[in-house]
Amino acid sequence: MENYFADERGFYGEFGGAYVPEILYKCVHDLQDAYLPIIESPEFKQEYHALLKDYVGRPSPLYFAERMSEKYGCQLYLKREDLNHTGAHKINNTIGQILLAKRMGKTRIIAETGAGQHGVATATVCALMNMKCEVFMGATDVERQHTNVERMKMLGAEVHPVRTGNMTLSDACSEAIRDWCCHPADTFYIVGSTMGPHPYPDLVARMQSVISEEIKWQLQEKIGRDYPDYLIACIGGGSNAAGTIYHYVNDERVNIVLSEAGGHGWQTDYTAATIHKGTTGILHGAKMLVMQNEDGQIQEAFTISAGLDYPGVGPMHCNMAKKGRTKVLSINDDEAIYAGYELTRMEGIIPAIESAHAIAALSKLQFKKDDVVVLTVSGRGDKDVETYLKNKAMAKEYGNF
Ligand SMILES: *Cc1c(COP(=O)(O)O)cnc(C)c1O
Repeated sequence: MENYFADERGFYGEFGGAYVPEILYKCVHDLQDAYLPIIESPEFKQEYHALLKDYVGRPSPLYFAERMSEKYGCQLYLKREDLNHTGAHKINNTIGQILLAKRMGKTRIIAETGAGQHGVATATVCALMNMKCEVFMGATDVERQHTNVERMKMLGAEVHPVRTGNMTLSDACSEAIRDWCCHPADTFYIVGSTMGPHPYPDLVARMQSVISEEIKWQLQEKIGRDYPDYLIACIGGGSNAAGTIYHYVNDERVNIVLSEAGGHGWQTDYTAATIHKGTTGILHGAKMLVMQNEDGQIQEAFTISAGLDYPGVGPMHCNMAKKGRTKVLSINDDEAIYAGYELTRMEGIIPAIESAHAIAALSKLQFKKDDVVVLTVSGRGDKDVETYLKNKAMAKEYGNF
């Protein structure tokens, strides 16, 4: 049978690995050696799960969405990561990584952020643990995600606007890696998604795997069996998707559907649909599908959703897509806007624009009435209200709100 997890060198089929500059070699190897013994120790697990429960507010509910089930002809359950402290799944990962950083004796935390959700989640756990926090963020994103910048500052983090390249997430990642090269001894880099050099994709997937661990017992409680027919999640770097599918990837009874951000359409130049459009390359320390030109120059990603605005995608998902384990849909901006309004009006839940890409998948799939579908709502839409209102007209061909 296929194994969809990382091998001991961090490869998922042909993707993954650790392609880092010489100066980070020791640092990355120390982390590779340290992470599993630490995160599998009873002391770590106890502290991690206690914080997930009392600080993050887990378990997150698995909610039966009655009206949406009726509309799409299936049994739709929403995994409510939007209800976590700080408003998204990102905190599951930052709690885990900061506990790891502490146990490795690191004193300074750095992170990259796009929409600012990972930056906020990192600044939050740094406040909690009294650690110094510096966040790299593209100057364009600093402008368009102003509230999250203010939140990070209020939490005590220093935000560094990055003015290289397109001044967005990809450039923030590069800058964080550069900073890490300058301070390898005392600094821990908290990576925000299932990307970066080994062991990050595996580490982040394990930290997010609490999502599917909960889905298992929640389904058992609600429907008397512990697996769904479909799992649906949106995919930027791939972390909420990895968490959603973690305990089901080797279970062929479960169909996996991932939504990437099509922007104006994956055939256009204005897209972030990396699995549709990308070719194999190395970005930020790992081999993955990357949007690039023939010379290997990274092409700017484009989507209405800042959290999905990345020209690569994690190696785990690249491998699963290549092996046919997942169906990957490209959801365009207008479809996501419509889906966000639909969930808001039918269930009273305003989803993050990222999560709205997952909702939009429902109209592209054919279900049987009894099919059990679990869809992860990765975050809440408070940060996106302006985007929804401004772009409402875009979605009018699908219906009126
Ligand atoms: C960051 C973010 C994403 C995309 O990141 P993944 O690592 O692919 O999960 C999706 N949804 C929300 C709400 C986010 O904040």
